[in-house]
Amino acid sequence: MKVGIIGCAGRMGQMLVQEVLQTEGCELSGGVEEPGNTALGEDVAGYCGFSESGIVISDNPGALFEISDVIIDFSLPTATAKHMELAEIYGISLILGTTGHDDSDFSLIEKAAEKIVIVKAMNFSIGVNVILALTEKISGLLNEDYDIEVFEMHHKHKIDSPSGTAIALGEAAARGRSIQLDDVSIKGRRGITGTRKKGAIGFSSLRGGEVVGDHSIIFAGESERVELSHKADSRRIFSKGAVLAAQWATGQKPGLYSMLDVLGLKKDS
Ligand code: NAD
Repeated sequence: MKVGIIGCAGRMGQMLVQEVLQTEGCELSGGVEEPGNTALGEDVAGYCGFSESGIVISDNPGALFEISDVIIDFSLPTATAKHMELAEIYGISLILGTTGHDDSDFSLIEKAAEKIVIVKAMNFSIGVNVILALTEKISGLLNEDYDIEVFEMHHKHKIDSPSGTAIALGEAAARGRSIQLDDVSIKGRRGITGTRKKGAIGFSSLRGGEVVGDHSIIFAGESERVELSHKADSRRIFSKGAVLAAQWATGQKPGLYSMLDVLGLKKDS
């Protein structure tokens, strides 16, 4: 299976190149970066600390889609539309790890998934996806007397907040209570906010250092708290999951899938 990496010089991109090179049955078809990136023209494997592959990093995504069976994209949300268009032209699957999409991006992603296989996950780690499945279950078992708060901490370079994973945890909690997250979410508190609204799902974000990603979801009742936590020690958990998703995507029907589908953790699967 020929796998191409978009954003291959980024923090995640480099992990993904390494993962593909180390995964049996996978072949690295190439890596793409945005125009002007200083890594352009470098050997893609050499740039990621491996022996040279003879493939240079380019800024031509079309050429990469043409020679690949599947593309893994961890770059910027503004690049997603173009990459979905190319995936459709060349009839290949897209593994989408980029976060920070807005509602109009999500509509475009849903539309594109009518024609191609897209596996989109806010977090590709196995541990986080188990927590997502448990969150949905627990929030259905604990009623609104249990206040739901989601906490996350990430490295100082992260540009979006709350993290995609925090939002996914909120969405899982909302699904468990058969409500829409947008109707109840509180993304940050400041000043005289008044007392907490029953049924709200709150978010708080910390940024600092090189923290790969900490997430907790807390169900705070009258005299007890139920907490689920996940701490990522290395980005390897995301690259491993994304490559697993790439292997799983082969042979699937067009559609928008998540890591819960890949791992068989969907409530109704
Ligand atoms: P990063 O800034 O280190 O890397 C992003 C790379 O994409 C950069 O090298 C940048 O030059 C490149 N890029 C930007 N626009 C591009 C374009 N149009 N074409 C090709 N390359 C382009 O960031 P990162 O920490 O690697 O994270 C990347 C994305 O992945 C973020 O959205 C982040 O939130 C997300 N992420 C997702 C998961 C997950 O499991 N879903 C895990 C970690 C990070």
